[in-house]
Amino acid sequence: MGHRFTYEALPMRVRFGAGVLAELPEEIAALGLARVLVLCSPEQQDTGQLVADALGRGAAGVLAEARMHVPVEVARRARDLAVELAADGCVAVGGGSAIGLGKAIALQHRLPVVAVPTTYAGSEMTPIWGLTEDGQKRTGRDPRVLPRSVIYDPELTLTLPGGLSATSGMNAIAHAVEGLYAPDASPMVSLMVEEGARALVAALPSVVADGADLDARAEAQYGAWLCGAVLGATTMSLHHKLCHTLGGTLDLPHAQTHTAVLPHAVAYNQPAAPQAVAALSRALGGHPDPAQALWELAGELGAARSLRELGMAEQDIPRIVELALTSPYANPRPLTRSGIEALLRTAWAGAPPASG
Ligand code: NAD
Repeated sequence: MGHRFTYEALPMRVRFGAGVLAELPEEIAALGLARVLVLCSPEQQDTGQLVADALGRGAAGVLAEARMHVPVEVARRARDLAVELAADGCVAVGGGSAIGLGKAIALQHRLPVVAVPTTYAGSEMTPIWGLTEDGQKRTGRDPRVLPRSVIYDPELTLTLPGGLSATSGMNAIAHAVEGLYAPDASPMVSLMVEEGARALVAALPSVVADGADLDARAEAQYGAWLCGAVLGATTMSLHHKLCHTLGGTLDLPHAQTHTAVLPHAVAYNQPAAPQAVAALSRALGGHPDPAQALWELAGELGAARSLRELGMAEQDIPRIVELALTSPYANPRPLTRSGIEALLRTAWAGAPPASG
């Protein structure tokens, strides 16, 4: 049977390489922007200031208030400040939280965003936005939130701590995995998946062993770019649904939750996705059982492999099972209550994945 697929390329510009942050003023000018508001999280105020300094008079100000899951109050404050300072765009510097804040402003106020990512989460490559109000996170897709331009400078990732480098890298690999069996998968996406996952799997052990290894940092960020592009191009399945539910309901940390769940979600889907298994095996150095290989990789990187370690109580499992089964979505293997419960129990305990 020949190929049959739909693939829509997203209109984005990417500049990649050590030191490319110096080209940010040029990039801003090329987009026709004159005064941009720099967004970052409080922990990265210094990096935000560094970016504002690089922009000189092109920076309208720095707002260092980005937080996980974009609380709606923070989004409103950022939008009001952008208006007050007469900013004509935003530069979001940081991980998914800072970039998510830029997207929220783009959604409500139409200001163009330039992203300068410093983790491997991949939000910069997607039209997906999220906003949290009264403890409820809403997400959606809107082409208006897609950053106009992305500056990947691996030098900015040198300060990302080893633990977060490991889990953020596993978060990126999770996008790649689910791109392989997505309902909107395509040959272009599969190429990005294999190359992106391969680069991360090769680089992460060196990144964790020596955070100052710039070559390994660049290879990891290159992989994260490809995995982010996969997330932007496809619809995610069981793994992302579970992590979204765990994060939204129990407030578990984003990248760490992805790391603990991924091997088990892969083990669940493996029997129904033989082509994905073959592609992942290639990306994982020929390992015949990708679920097991991902579990071993997380262990090698020193990441927490159990949801228990992340603070989840065992009695929360049934509630998460129910929520994961409420709205139907595409997944290679049909979802069963007993199957999802067994998956979550194994992930909670941090036991090896139950690969079939
Ligand atoms: P994050 O942005 O919350 O960053 C975690 C912490 O690491 C922050 O304190 C941050 O300041 C710090 N940090 C980031 N880069 C650093 C660096 N280079 N050096 C030192 N410290 C650094 O974490 P994240 O995992 O990147 O993003 C998670 C959030 O992004 C979640 O809310 C998630 O839902 C969202 N997300 C959205 C998408 C999307 O497509 N919309 C994709 C992935 C993640």
